[in-house]
Amino acid sequence: MEKIIYDLNENECMQLLEKVRWKNGVFCPHCKSKKNIVKNGHVNAYQNYICKNCNHSFTVRTGTVFSHSKIPLKRWFIAVISLDKCSIMNIAEKLGLYYHTAYNLVKKIRKSVFLKEMMEKLSGEIVLKIEIDEMYITAGEKGNKNLDREPRKRGLKAPPGRGTFEKDKPAIIVITERKHGKTKFFVPLHLNGKYIVDIFQNHIEGNIIVYHDDYPIYNCLNGICPHFAINHSNGEYADGDICTNNAENRFSLLRPFLQNYRGISKYNLQEYATLCQFFFNERRETHDPMNILMTFLEYIFFDFFHSHIFAKIFGNFSTFFQKSYEKN
Ligand SMILES: [Zn+2]
Repeated sequence: MEKIIYDLNENECMQLLEKVRWKNGVFCPHCKSKKNIVKNGHVNAYQNYICKNCNHSFTVRTGTVFSHSKIPLKRWFIAVISLDKCSIMNIAEKLGLYYHTAYNLVKKIRKSVFLKEMMEKLSGEIVLKIEIDEMYITAGEKGNKNLDREPRKRGLKAPPGRGTFEKDKPAIIVITERKHGKTKFFVPLHLNGKYIVDIFQNHIEGNIIVYHDDYPIYNCLNGICPHFAINHSNGEYADGDICTNNAENRFSLLRPFLQNYRGISKYNLQEYATLCQFFFNERRETHDPMNILMTFLEYIFFDFFHSHIFAKIFGNFSTFFQKSYEKN
């Protein structure tokens, strides 16, 4: 099936973009007007338009990750569908790009997926049965050139047990909905009860029942929703309906996904985990790379900054964003 994308020519790639972006008609990306738009020649084979409303010109690529890129669309598309199995080095080889060019391309894809995935809520059932669990992975400040210490001669080692973001062993929280398996990952800067409550208030919609392990942090759900603990410390792993096996299964998919990238900075960990979430949730629906590509295109054309829910959800991630972008 991937062959279909490999066989596309640049014109067909452009038509795919137009099909998604102009599905409700051509509009001006600058002022959102749908009226008074006229065709005005071509820019690099792309139809150019002028908006008589604001006097700006635009093409189908304007205001997207593809805007100022000289990389042909087909290479972007191949990168998107390869990201769940290939390292950045593999992608660079596959596309005939320098490593740093491939890195920047992947970074843009990652950020686009992250923004939209964060806005997707778990919902859809009358009662959502949610499993929540946490894991810890070792991740430092890979790629940070401004560190005031010597580079490590051996790999980063973190002490056993639960870690913290500061101590280079950040937690990753997974929530997964039992019936359809839809999943979300979160990387907290500070894991505490407030963070868990925020997840349930901002990323899940509807009546919920929660299953978790015996980590006392989940007591923060008292009075918020019904929740049940399975006592792992006593060697129990399922008690009737009470288990976190689905959540643990997601971690068994996340670990190898992250290992693909051979060491990730803790500041980028949230975005990579979200990328894994995107592929996992998409593959529940389809294994056709063309469908995955089309969802990605829907994502990049989503109008985040004009969306009223953007600010609300991102309130919780503002600190993370600040830190993440300071480091990049
Ligand atoms: Zn305009």
